[in-house]
Amino acid sequence: MEPGELVTLAREALPRAYAPYSGYRVAAALLTEKGEVFTGVNVENSSLGLTVCAERAAVAAAVTAGHRQFSRLAVVAEGDAPPLPCGACRQVLSEFAPDLQIFVASRDEEMQKFTLQELLPHSFSFRKK
Ligand SMILES: [Zn+2]
Repeated sequence: MEPGELVTLAREALPRAYAPYSGYRVAAALLTEKGEVFTGVNVENSSLGLTVCAERAAVAAAVTAGHRQFSRLAVVAEGDAPPLPCGACRQVLSEFAPDLQIFVASRDEEMQKFTLQELLPHSFSFRKK
């Protein structure tokens, strides 16, 4: 699947984000090695610290469905800044896809491409690298 298609799927999920406190809606679309796509949205909580990011919601949905190998991730948001994954999400993504390609797009900006290695070059792991 092309990155643009993945971004489109993330944009379609964006209205389902639950962000009543920040108003910053985020959606992610995660492509498995088998070609399936799982989406996630941010789910805020009134305690704020319990908020779940869209990226981790997508990973949880995919893993729940039995997928553990991913090739691409698209993240979109309504803000002006590119919605780069937070540190916690980068670490979670590195558990399953250290070579993940990440595409981010804000409301109006063009899509930007990163690798997870660029965003998190020295992730924590029990496994020897
Ligand atoms: Zn995050």
